[in-house]
Amino acid sequence: MFTTLSKKFSKIFQNISQQGRLTEKNIQKTLKKVQYTLLEADVSISVINDLTKILKKKSIGQIINKSLTPGQEFIKIVQTELVNLINSPKKKINFFEKPPVKFLMVGLQGAGKTTSLIKLAYFITKKFKKKILVVSTDTIRPAAIDQLEILSKKSNINFLKSYKSQTPQEIVKIAIKHAIKQLYDILIIDTAGRLHNNEKMMQELQNLQNYIKPTETFFVMDSMTGQDALHSIKNFNNFLKISGIILTKLDSDHRGGIILSIQHTTKIPIKLIGIGEKIQDLQIFCPDRIIKRILG
Ligand code: GDP
Repeated sequence: MFTTLSKKFSKIFQNISQQGRLTEKNIQKTLKKVQYTLLEADVSISVINDLTKILKKKSIGQIINKSLTPGQEFIKIVQTELVNLINSPKKKINFFEKPPVKFLMVGLQGAGKTTSLIKLAYFITKKFKKKILVVSTDTIRPAAIDQLEILSKKSNINFLKSYKSQTPQEIVKIAIKHAIKQLYDILIIDTAGRLHNNEKMMQELQNLQNYIKPTETFFVMDSMTGQDALHSIKNFNNFLKISGIILTKLDSDHRGGIILSIQHTTKIPIKLIGIGEKIQDLQIFCPDRIIKRILG
């Protein structure tokens, strides 16, 4: 497992491997370096502090596997604990319920909701051969409806036209009826971007969620917004039941440490990650791969 460790971390732990024995003193010294690496990756102080406690508890006094040196054992613990921190048994996307299964996309404006919606529709169509319908309830910014229409046409995804004169609930009512009639497997609903402190808009979204009862409500989150994003997801989650996070723009965020903070603080599973602007730039969230990346 630790053969996959980055060069950077191998270097950090070299002294321990060479000494062949873990002592509280050299764990302390090495932990400082681990803390620094995580801080550099934009992991919050509270997460680092909690992780430090876990690492100390798990490593000191630990029986060492005969095939490993004490240093290797410690490396293994660090990697395992980081993966544990971001892993969730609920990270699978649920679309195996009675059709039409409904997904709701929510989040701040510009987070990547519409782009992720199309990527997701494309991903599920290709991988699971499902029949998908998409619709926008963003009557505040009618250009958003056009944007979804253009993206859908470009990617051969079925799109239902909605209009500024309709309410989000009216749009959804028609879309569900249409999806049932036309035997769609999945209906994906886009919403207007909003700020969590806009009480009226959050209430509207809550009503819409209660009406739709979606199988998945995805909070689409821009990884570049760092610790601010944590604040908004906590507030969105006070109004809605968020079932999963789609973390976008990970191609721009080289550190990715925000993932540790999100999982540790909110416990809401990250289900998908956006890694570019193209339709195929969406991946299932894989904790092992992300930890390798964070360790740099
Ligand atoms: P919305 O307002 O939440 O619907 O956001 P959009 O879907 O319109 O996306 C806003 C911008 O972010 C667009 O220029 C997208 O191309 C871009 N975007 C979305 N996801 C990603 C991603 O994973 N990587 C990058 N680089 N850009 C993205």
